[in-house]
Amino acid sequence: MNGEILNLLDIERHGTRALGPGLRYAIWTQGCPFNCPGCVTPEGRPIVAAKIIDTTTLANDIIGNKNISGVTISGGEPFLQAASIAVLLEKVQLSRPELNVIIFTGFRKEDLQSEEALSVLKMTDLLIDGQYIESKNDGVGLRGSSNQRLHFLTNRLLPYKEDLQSGKRQIELTLNINSTDAIGIPLKQNLL
Ligand code: SF4
Repeated sequence: MNGEILNLLDIERHGTRALGPGLRYAIWTQGCPFNCPGCVTPEGRPIVAAKIIDTTTLANDIIGNKNISGVTISGGEPFLQAASIAVLLEKVQLSRPELNVIIFTGFRKEDLQSEEALSVLKMTDLLIDGQYIESKNDGVGLRGSSNQRLHFLTNRLLPYKEDLQSGKRQIELTLNINSTDAIGIPLKQNLL
């Protein structure tokens, strides 16, 4: 990726309350190098072209949503597209610096050392890292399993720390004519 486009699995442009404090714009990137048994988004794992969107269009959509208080980026694996995520966050934070940012990654934080990844981390308030281990899914907090760590990289989300680490999870269901979409961290993959 050259920073101009993102390859996404999905976008929740109206916002969700199931992926962090407040109403949050959410994006799921397409493509993940990991293979966690029980992955909640297996459709996001193939490294193939899915929904291609340019970072300016996406940034403007986020900036234009006056109802949100933050942005959550999940996947797939967001750091496979770190250059584009960095460009996106730069554009968003230029216009809406009050929006906090939560990112999920299967990598461990100490392994995110590329220039692009470090640039993303500088604009991230909360990083939730590590691969999902189904036997460690304890049903609480904004992480899939207890091995995953919450890194508060700024103090902006610290008031929510306890809830984010061990609070009750929320799942939002959207009923469509032919399908049901779920957003949130499930207790176990097979419950949905
Ligand atoms: S890192 Fe996340 S998206 Fe990738 S396989 Fe594991 S649970 Fe699924």
